[in-house]
Amino acid sequence: MKQKTITLFDFVEGKSVQISREIARIEGDPNGPNLVFIGGMHGNEPTGVLALHRVMNELKPLQPLLKGNVYALSGNLNALERGERFIVKDLNRVWQPDMVERAKKRDYQPSEIINEVEEQIELWGYIDELMNNRKGKFIFVDLHTTSVKSVPFITMSDTIMNRGFARRIPVPVVIGIEEYLQEPLLSYVNDLGCISMAFEGGQHNDPESVRNHEAMIWLSLVTSKVIKKIEVPKFRKNYHHLMHSAEGNHKVFAINYRQNIEPHETFEMIPGFGNFQSIKANQLLAKLDGQPVLSPQKGLIFMPLYQKLGNDGFFIIEKIAKFWLGVSFIFRKLSLYRILRFLPGVKPFMETDHIMVVNTAIAKWYSKEILNLMGYRRKKKKGDITLYIRRKYDFKGPG
Ligand SMILES: [Zn+2]
Repeated sequence: MKQKTITLFDFVEGKSVQISREIARIEGDPNGPNLVFIGGMHGNEPTGVLALHRVMNELKPLQPLLKGNVYALSGNLNALERGERFIVKDLNRVWQPDMVERAKKRDYQPSEIINEVEEQIELWGYIDELMNNRKGKFIFVDLHTTSVKSVPFITMSDTIMNRGFARRIPVPVVIGIEEYLQEPLLSYVNDLGCISMAFEGGQHNDPESVRNHEAMIWLSLVTSKVIKKIEVPKFRKNYHHLMHSAEGNHKVFAINYRQNIEPHETFEMIPGFGNFQSIKANQLLAKLDGQPVLSPQKGLIFMPLYQKLGNDGFFIIEKIAKFWLGVSFIFRKLSLYRILRFLPGVKPFMETDHIMVVNTAIAKWYSKEILNLMGYRRKKKKGDITLYIRRKYDFKGPG
């Protein structure tokens, strides 16, 4: 297959670089771990791609030392070329299992073939081929940036496997966002039993974001045991760079609240809010159709929307105490989710503990926290009834 190649401008080096779907493929051990990086899933976020291009060039001479395999891929190539988030559809919102199945079989009407369908077919074709031919475990790191100025951070599903990986990266970790985002690639591969996380390196097009992504790539290579720490040039420098960029914040946060924006509504954030900034209850945060939006609770503001596009106005997050992280680890280790069915308002669906049906009118005050703690995620909500699904792979992947 002839690969499409685009030209991106590396604004840190001040020169043009050629980028294809496969930015690099560096293999050291067919039975070792497989680390897959994706950059530019959103076309207006080129810094991850630029960082991958740079680090892979430095990694190539170290190939004989690799104990695993590295695949650096670009996401939405055509959108990257134009510098836009997407062409027709957000490529990071199309990964429900039946859509991946269709991409595999190329099962489309001619009228359905839009740019992102072609990108998905090619991207998944590449990953699927790897997964069928590599024995080792898979780790996915998806590199993004934000419209708002921010310290670097990780978002991920709260599995014990993901926690183990993220613990070694010195940036804040936000869990539970997949309950709000529609079908990102990372949720899909997480459900296949892979370790997966998104790394938000800073603001779009900020040279500092390139640097943060570079540090994250090196740390991921070591954390996934693809290369030993001592073999990595300037490991400590990269580690400290990320730690300083994150201002020493290596806490875990959960999302408590999301401000929705309907398509017909006009949303305007009050200027000056930064990511992870503390807010008080009843503080004025935004205007929705000209009406004041007050904070329903105290916490930290997360991803305030200062661009035109989007239906998430802002999130409110709260730190999870280490104590509760420990408790949930033990609860899951002991499979204590089996006692959930004895809580008022909670019952298993068709007698399986895999899916819980929660009547939030009865279990209003504790349901979400307890189910999240036990490794469930909210899947569907209709009126007072909410469905929670337990993640299949928590401590380890299949096989
Ligand atoms: Zn993004």
